[in-house]
Amino acid sequence: MRDAIALQTRSNPDATALVDAATDSSWTFRELDAEVEETAGRLAACGVQHGDRVAVLMENRPAFVRLVFACARLGAVLVPLNARLATPELRAQAERVGPVLVVCEDDTADAARELPVPAVSVDAGGDVEHFGARSPDAVEPADLSWTDTRAVMFTSGTTGDPKAVRLTYANFAASAVASAFRLGVLPEDSWLCPLSLYHMGGLSVVLRSALYGTTAVLTRGFDAEDVRDALATHHCTGVSLVPTMLSRLLDAGGVPDTLRFALVGGAPTPPELVERALDSGVPVCPTFGMTETTSQVATLHATEARDRPDSSGRPLLGTEVTVVGEDGDALPAGETGELVVSGPTVTPGYLSADANDERFCQHGLCTGDFGFVDSGGFLHVGGRQTDQIVTGGENVHPEEVAAVLRDHPAVGDAAVVGVTDEEWGERVAALVVPDEETVTTDDLRAFCEDRIAGYKHPRTIAFAEEVPRTASGTVDREAVRRDLGTE
Ligand code: ATP
Ligand code: MG
Repeated sequence: MRDAIALQTRSNPDATALVDAATDSSWTFRELDAEVEETAGRLAACGVQHGDRVAVLMENRPAFVRLVFACARLGAVLVPLNARLATPELRAQAERVGPVLVVCEDDTADAARELPVPAVSVDAGGDVEHFGARSPDAVEPADLSWTDTRAVMFTSGTTGDPKAVRLTYANFAASAVASAFRLGVLPEDSWLCPLSLYHMGGLSVVLRSALYGTTAVLTRGFDAEDVRDALATHHCTGVSLVPTMLSRLLDAGGVPDTLRFALVGGAPTPPELVERALDSGVPVCPTFGMTETTSQVATLHATEARDRPDSSGRPLLGTEVTVVGEDGDALPAGETGELVVSGPTVTPGYLSADANDERFCQHGLCTGDFGFVDSGGFLHVGGRQTDQIVTGGENVHPEEVAAVLRDHPAVGDAAVVGVTDEEWGERVAALVVPDEETVTTDDLRAFCEDRIAGYKHPRTIAFAEEVPRTASGTVDREAVRRDLGTE
């Protein structure tokens, strides 16, 4: 098998493969293919061979996309590194994965030089050797197998050290097919990707679009006005977002009526946000996904969202979600337990044997998230098991309490965490972003009174201008604890 760009160039050469919204440039599959060929030749000139790992340390730009496919052309394994990490974190990841080369850009060159790996830069004029100055070797395209490793990607590190996840060509193909089965594919599709390509939510858009023969539209970072304008200028039919981006996009104004879906995941999408999006004519599709499952596990189609704004939809084609109890047995519909995922998009394993022993069980990959599947087969994600608060022996799900607080008419946003308490082990604490300055902690306590059990009520409440979140949109619980002054 050949890489997706080579295949599309045979059957679909004049379709637009890539648009860079930042520079308003575009490439057909034939044009991209020629550049991928040249990039592969340069990688080969740097000594990269079939099976080698190649680290990429840059933000979204066309050079990143060329590298994604140039790796496949050589049969090399792509290792996208998070360009926002600190140098010691990057060094630890590079040591774990052992790439033969790191390709950086001006903004990441300082970090790249600190890695125990030869570095080249796609930008000329810095202290790192210019990749473009290498004359490309002639390249014999690799004969790829479905079970070959396509990429090693790091999880976001929300619950500890990021884990290195191995993903195959078969994983990405299964994910593309399953996504198409839920969202549909049209020849004119053009999918905007403001998510970083070094996270699964971003990379999967580029790989899917190439497999479909449709257009991927890149933006460099997320700016709500730029994304709003790029959606209209490039007649986008799809966009991938995390919930905070959706909320900012709604603040910035409307989306074009070409848009068929706004896939929103990476963190819980509050039902009020789903409803607000639908009211504004945004075809929002909440999704639950992970790095280890090559993105989407379950996705709610926009046409289903009005009736179930609090669900992440049904599992995608071929994916099975089992809810297991504390004894590891499967639970019936409606009961809450850990979500365990199996199917063709699930990684064959982490690089670390320990993580494999810990995270795989008889039902599949243990997500560390809890939730339930309702009698209609729709998934409801409750949150992470590690975020559960145990107060006086009672379990409290922080998202349940945060959702009640957000329901208060004078509250814009809220996050809930457990903080150490001498008497109760942990106590429930809330950081609240008020919409109206008059709201008091007593108002919020009274509001909780009729809605949730007493042990779930926040004992500590503080006000802030915003809830700290990670790049992928999840609540940054350590930062919330700091803001609460409890750490
Ligand atoms: P790490 O595994 O290193 O702790 P991470 O789990 O944040 O980091 P990712 O693979 O980027 O790394 O994120 C997947 C996680 O994001 C899921 O396991 C889940 O906790 C959260 N998530 C994704 N989509 C949703 C959603 N719709 N609702 C709730 N949580 C979600
Ligand atoms: Mg995880």
